[in-house]
Amino acid sequence: MRKQIKHLENMSEFVGLSVKGGVTNAPIINPYLTKTRKKPILSVEDYVKGILDGNISVLSQAVTLIESSLPAHQKLAHCILEKCLSFAGNSVRLGITGVPGAGKSTFIEVLGMYLVSQKGKKLAVLAIDPSSERTKGSILGDKTRMEELSASRNAFIRPSPASGSLGGVARKTRETIVLCEAAGFDTVIVETVGVGQSETAVHSMVDFFLLIQLAGTGDELQGIKRGIMEMADGIVINKADGENIEKSRLAQNLFKNALHLFPYPQSQWTAEVLLASAIEKTGISQVWNMVEKYIDFVIANGYFQNNRNEQSKYWMYETIDSQIKDRFYNNINIKKLLKQVEQDVLTHKISSFAAAHKLLDKYFCEEGYEID
Ligand code: GDP
Repeated sequence: MRKQIKHLENMSEFVGLSVKGGVTNAPIINPYLTKTRKKPILSVEDYVKGILDGNISVLSQAVTLIESSLPAHQKLAHCILEKCLSFAGNSVRLGITGVPGAGKSTFIEVLGMYLVSQKGKKLAVLAIDPSSERTKGSILGDKTRMEELSASRNAFIRPSPASGSLGGVARKTRETIVLCEAAGFDTVIVETVGVGQSETAVHSMVDFFLLIQLAGTGDELQGIKRGIMEMADGIVINKADGENIEKSRLAQNLFKNALHLFPYPQSQWTAEVLLASAIEKTGISQVWNMVEKYIDFVIANGYFQNNRNEQSKYWMYETIDSQIKDRFYNNINIKKLLKQVEQDVLTHKISSFAAAHKLLDKYFCEEGYEID
């Protein structure tokens, strides 16, 4: 009911003047927006069928379940994963790292377009950025950075799972790889920023690890951690264009020489150093040829399968570690006891080690395990 406003102007002594009641202002927010319904949760069978049919919308929803922290979603996600596992594994998994500004997004867009349009590939691009929060714009979160590729029917681009522990974020990405492969993606790129520990996580889920470097800073080798160089199966000096070409060639030699100083890798593969320009789209096919050559080489010498087995083992232990931690800290009795024991440590009533043992013993006894 509209509130009646008493207008003096409408009274008999003011005849001739008339003011209408007026209309209520339209709401600023489109009321229909609130009425959009959430996508319904499907059954495990429907998810699996949708994924195996290559239905991108169902795939995206299943990835959202993997990323969810709700126990019911996680349970559903694990059932889907288990059923998809036997259809996964048939892709080339490529990890790409490099410092911010090295040109990773631009390079992945150009390489990606080359793969989908000239090589007939189906490409999934995922990311690991533990510092990101989706709302604040993670790497790859800004779709405009890969405009052409995200419009391609044969590409699936997914930003990094929202921030959390690196282990958690990486595990979700690894599980997403399984779903993408089951959905028919034959090439998977996992991008990460070349700072911190995330390279190790990416390295433990890919077949080929590519480092994107820049020339021309004069201290090319100083900024890179030795560990990252050691992990690389290939290095690309990007932005080898314009006035930068000569410097890029110098950097190429520098990197080639530096690689000789590292121990021979288990794969027996000698890392290559190539030049490319993502802007001028040069050197792109050479990079892909290198990846293919590597895959053939490691399949032939047995390293490919060996490495994937080792990676599966690694992820089993990673998951055990994180699950034990999660369950321990979320246990209601531990939560109650933790603050008190913490206080006892601070007031020197008990040592840190004794306190930890007390809590762990309590947890495992409650779980019904015998303590040594
Ligand atoms: P990221 O932070 O590693 O993902 O880097 P971006 O892809 O966002 O690129 C950083 C900047 O470098 C952008 O301004 C790009 O236009 C530029 N850039 C990327 N690749 C090239 C290249 O091959 N040549 C030149 N000259 N600039 C490039």
